[in-house]
Amino acid sequence: MVTHPRPIEKHFTVHLTVKNTLDESIAYGVFSEPELTRAGVVEDHNIILTTNKECPFKCTMCDLWKNTLDYRVEKGTVAKQVRKALDQLPTAKHLKLYNAGSFFDRQSIPEQDTFDIADDLRVLGYETLIVEAHPKLIGTPCFEFADYLQPQLEVAMGLETVNEQALQELNKNMTLDDFKRATASMLEHDISVRAFILLQTPWQNEEEGVHWAKASIDFAHAIGVECLTVIPLRKNERLAVDFVPSSTQALDEVVAYGLSKNNGRVFGDTWDAV
Ligand code: SF4
Repeated sequence: MVTHPRPIEKHFTVHLTVKNTLDESIAYGVFSEPELTRAGVVEDHNIILTTNKECPFKCTMCDLWKNTLDYRVEKGTVAKQVRKALDQLPTAKHLKLYNAGSFFDRQSIPEQDTFDIADDLRVLGYETLIVEAHPKLIGTPCFEFADYLQPQLEVAMGLETVNEQALQELNKNMTLDDFKRATASMLEHDISVRAFILLQTPWQNEEEGVHWAKASIDFAHAIGVECLTVIPLRKNERLAVDFVPSSTQALDEVVAYGLSKNNGRVFGDTWDAV
């Protein structure tokens, strides 16, 4: 069972804020963009952002709650969203299916929906499916899904930072050992792993942020993570702490550092950058 330690109040306040209005009959994001594959070629990746219940973890820095619902959708709803989105998307070999939470959180995506989605992807001939999940939700449901799925499964998890104090303050509900265990178990099951790394936590200045982001890259590489995405901290109404957004140069420096290790893909994420 996942426990949720209380936020450290001196650093932030949780404000009730209004979410974007979403239609549960459609995915709230459907688009396509090129990305470097593991094989070293740039290919189109279709992307579907599903509309579903908010992630229960409520990490301090996360702004994904803005595009979520307060209630669990009926069985079959998310599978239908995905089917409609797939009909709209161009032919591609790779699909990112992000649900602003964990793909294996049954309150977000019911189990049968995940298998119905797998059936659709088999028919369409996708080669890769990338989903996201919290490390504590990696276990038998993930391995059974990977076995059933025809495309190669890749799971993206938020490592965020290897600064353990900052990790706790992010209310991430995991330790570095949790992340390491989840990575090792997925690699044993031939599931690819991608890690999200935060460029600067709310309480670090840019220099400290760059230092810890580089250390996080070293950690991820050492435990066998092949693909890393470095994400600048974004504005978030629930994060009532002033922070100076990282510069583009800081992101470039960290990504260049990661690439210099010659240990896999390293991306800089500029979605909604502040
Ligand atoms: S586990 Fe991921 S999606 Fe959920 S609150 Fe944390 S960062 Fe956001």
